Amino acid sequence: SQDLKGKTVVVTAAAQGIGRASVLAFAAAGANVIATDINEAALAELSGTPRLVTRRLDVLDDAAVKAAFAEIGRVDVLFNCAGFVHGGSVLDMKQGDLDFAIDLNVKAMVRTIRAVLPGMLEREDGAIINMSSVASSQKGVPNRFVYGLTKAAVIGLTKAVAADYVAKGIRCNAICPGTVESPSLEGRMRAQGDYETARAAFIARQPMGRLGKAEEIADLAVYLAGATYTTGQAYNIDGGWSI
Ligand code: NAD
Repeated sequence: SQDLKGKTVVVTAAAQGIGRASVLAFAAAGANVIATDINEAALAELSGTPRLVTRRLDVLDDAAVKAAFAEIGRVDVLFNCAGFVHGGSVLDMKQGDLDFAIDLNVKAMVRTIRAVLPGMLEREDGAIINMSSVASSQKGVPNRFVYGLTKAAVIGLTKAVAADYVAKGIRCNAICPGTVESPSLEGRMRAQGDYETARAAFIARQPMGRLGKAEEIADLAVYLAGATYTTGQAYNIDGGWSI
């Protein structure tokens, strides 16, 4: 595994799912980890993990993001993991869904990137990892209009940042998972009414015949933190969904 000893890693949406698995993986790789989320009760379950501290951070709050990163200081690796899944087509979309998703899935990443980049540029070293999805410009997925739109924007912003700073020691990559076991996925399956049928349908769209594990995605995040010859890429990690 990667040796991230001495690196400071900040992860958003770290209280559960892929973010939570990632902060544990980063800490196991030797990094000093700052696990952030709005769910302080779930964050508290991480306390006691070596080299890991937690802090409340709402990535929708511009002032809070600025203040948090000013206080944190040096950040070597930023993993923007926060995101929300809206179901439905363009016609199903409810008032406010698009604005909310653009704010959380896209603009929040712009906020955190603007907060960490000046310091990274001073040191000419930094890795930014953005959470996209296979449901994006990688693949059109039914009933994921708002989500796919915003996750495609994540790939666009990732490539734009990578292009601007490729010669300045900054790398910026995106992770595009398929269907991954997580608390919010469980919630989406339960919300469909017939849990077993919903679960079978999610598994059926994964050619490997199973859902991904958050730990499998976390491994890729740790890899990208230390992968010094890759930037501007969108990494599908999807059990073969996009073959
Ligand atoms: P999840 O959806 O279960 O958890 C999301 C976390 O985000 C929660 O802890 C929540 O408190 C936090 N959060 C919500 N609003 C926030 C805010 N304003 N500020 C800070 N934190 C906030 O976790 P997941 O399913 O692992 O998803 C994590 C990311 O991975 C998302 O961006 C999601 O779109 C992406 N993703 C997930 C899957 C999947 O199948 N699970 C697939 C592809 C991409």
